[in-house]
Amino acid sequence: MAETQVKPDAASRPIGEPLVVLEHVDKHFGSLHVLKDINLTVRRGEVVVVIGPSGSGKSTLCRTINRLETIDSGTIAIDGTRLPEEGRALARLRADVGMVFQSFNLFAHKSVLENVTLGPTKVKGLSRAAARTKANALLERVGVANQADKLPAQLSGGQQQRVAIARALAMDPQVMLFDEPTSALDPEMINEVLDVMVSLAAEGMTMIVVTHEMGFARKAAHRVVFMDGGQIVEESDPETFFTAPSSERARDFLSKIL
Ligand code: ADP
Ligand code: MG
Repeated sequence: MAETQVKPDAASRPIGEPLVVLEHVDKHFGSLHVLKDINLTVRRGEVVVVIGPSGSGKSTLCRTINRLETIDSGTIAIDGTRLPEEGRALARLRADVGMVFQSFNLFAHKSVLENVTLGPTKVKGLSRAAARTKANALLERVGVANQADKLPAQLSGGQQQRVAIARALAMDPQVMLFDEPTSALDPEMINEVLDVMVSLAAEGMTMIVVTHEMGFARKAAHRVVFMDGGQIVEESDPETFFTAPSSERARDFLSKIL
């Protein structure tokens, strides 16, 4: 594994006050209990990697945090404000949470630039000129500035995912959620996306990242949260988690992916 870059050194980055706080969150899909008494606090500037077997509830956890899914009980608060049920307050809070999906989810019939300007103009009321300036800067930052006028399908998967990151950042989120952002990518494109994520982490972005990329976790995460069967089974720093997990379930999982 290439470990060439300067380490952002998670341990030395300052961690602030609690930003995303889940308390006693429960969620069912019909009779299926997908989230069981989830308690999780993510502080400002913290990078948390969520790892666990398929079906353990990782995506559902992400989706509840920006209210793409409702919860049955418990509370979710972002920056001290409890997630409201609906309305403008919800739209505002949702803008605080940037989300990047496995499948990019770009608007297929809009140019790369339009993909990034749409949210800021429609939701945040930015002028078209201001949104374009901002979008161009973000596309530059993720290394795809020269693709601005193309349609998503004309880009590689790695480029599309970097556009998706730029699009999320254009809303000035307080926290970024990544749900297996590199799982749909060809191997040679994984690092170009992870590099952008590592640099975001180094700049102090608060991030919740569902991934099995151990290299990313080691480089950038303050904490690894291991989920199984809808529960948080174990939490520890990446080094401890990957070398000496304390639960049998984590040991079993790691023996399958490593
Ligand atoms: P993970 O991301 O860890 O693979 P998910 O959160 O996607 O897990 O899914 C957790 C469980 O919930 C799985 O058993 C999955 O089949 C189920 N599930 C996810 N979404 C839905 C849904 N919309 N309706 C019914 N069941 C769902
Ligand atoms: Mg998932």
